[in-house]
Amino acid sequence: MAPTDARRAVVVGAGPSGFYAASQLLDAGFEVDLLDALPTPFGLVRAGVAPDHPKIKTVTRVFDKVAGREGLRFFGGVAVGRDVTPRELVERYHAVVYAFGTAADNRLGIPGEDLPGSHAATAFVGWYNGHPDHAGATYDLSREHAVVIGNGNVAIDVARMLVLSPEEITPTDTADHAIEALAASSVREVSVVGRRGPVEAAFTTPELLELGELSRADVVVDHADLHAVPDDAGRNVEVLRGYAARPPREDASHRVVLRFCWSPVEILGEGRVEAIRLARNEIVDGRAVATGEEMELPCGLVVRSIGYRGTPIDGIPFDAARGLVRNVDGRVVDEDGALVPRTYVTGWVKRGPSGVIGTNKKDSAQTTAAIVADAQAGVLAGPPIPDADEAAAWLLTRAPGAVGWDGWTRLDAHEVAAGSGAGRPRVKVVHLETMGRIAASGV
Ligand code: NAP
Repeated sequence: MAPTDARRAVVVGAGPSGFYAASQLLDAGFEVDLLDALPTPFGLVRAGVAPDHPKIKTVTRVFDKVAGREGLRFFGGVAVGRDVTPRELVERYHAVVYAFGTAADNRLGIPGEDLPGSHAATAFVGWYNGHPDHAGATYDLSREHAVVIGNGNVAIDVARMLVLSPEEITPTDTADHAIEALAASSVREVSVVGRRGPVEAAFTTPELLELGELSRADVVVDHADLHAVPDDAGRNVEVLRGYAARPPREDASHRVVLRFCWSPVEILGEGRVEAIRLARNEIVDGRAVATGEEMELPCGLVVRSIGYRGTPIDGIPFDAARGLVRNVDGRVVDEDGALVPRTYVTGWVKRGPSGVIGTNKKDSAQTTAAIVADAQAGVLAGPPIPDADEAAAWLLTRAPGAVGWDGWTRLDAHEVAAGSGAGRPRVKVVHLETMGRIAASGV
């Protein structure tokens, strides 16, 4: 049962952390309005997870069940900061939970970073996954060498997508524009550049192992990078030693080269990316320390995959240095540490972009426990306009094209039907206008 009179919550962002929070709030007796800036739900599961990882995406079945529960309403295509304000939300809901993730990218802060051909992983990943904000972009894949900066799983995803064969990509839900561009790509070698060493790399072992199983790409690791590494340095190092010991694959037309202990210092080129200058590091107590040695690596594409950050929204206290909503264990606080009434946060924009999808379940549990405790303490009582019908009408006035769960179901069926003939899980619709039209009518 709903604790005291507090029973209406709005969750902003229908990705994993938003869905976990919504589910837990329903369990606690709240009614939940789930908002997303896009007409489509699932956040990073739709727009981030690599298209050749369909198993990871099956978590959407769990979220479908949540969406079907009584008390939950979905409003896709409503953006806080554009259509409605944080202040207006706290006037209408007992609790407001921000779960809008980290849609922006960290920057290297080096010369040449903005040359054509230098991109953020956020944009490139959004592009191949058909995120409407990135679907219109074009990538020049006409050069043989590409460089991915960073040693996390996103860097591996990007490198893999650049070398997958058409036979590997075509049966996935990669956006059609990306399938076409990647099929015509001239990229043959992708260097994945880490500023620290094999021990410090953030890759997880299954993702590293997958690199060794690509149909047409060899994975290349230099023995020398592993000399100083102790034998018992973990599974990743074991896998890397295996790669370093492998003879080059003669049947491989493509290569992924893992280069450790190099920091990017400048991206070079006349009017577009032509090379990157890297500075050699040695690792001292886990830290990268420059040795003074440098090299230039010719390349036509640089993708920086060095972590994500949240995008600030007016009216929500934001820690600009960390790229996160200011909070203490999920309760949003202002610059002085004072609690912001009725306002909570969960997921990547609460704790930073780390962990796997399931990590968000525990994270949201901490936030929803805070909400329930505050409700029981009477802190959430009495928003001025607590009426569910009023809220729905108001949201639809502000975002007249908003898509409900039934609309998303129509769009989903459309995408799945479009893919079924070609043996693909779906063909994504990537333009907002078309999405809205199909969601409204099914056609
Ligand atoms: P990540 O794991 O935090 O990796 C970021 C990488 O960027 C690190 O290697 C970091 O190096 C490097 N970096 C940061 N600043 C740099 C700079 N200025 N210059 C050079 N390198 C820099 O982040 P992510 O790859 O974006 O992944 C985000 C989360 O999603 C992770 O938890 C990841 O595991 C998860 N994810 C999982 C999967 C999967 O399970 N298949 C797929 C994709 C993503 P330092 O360590 O030296 O800082």
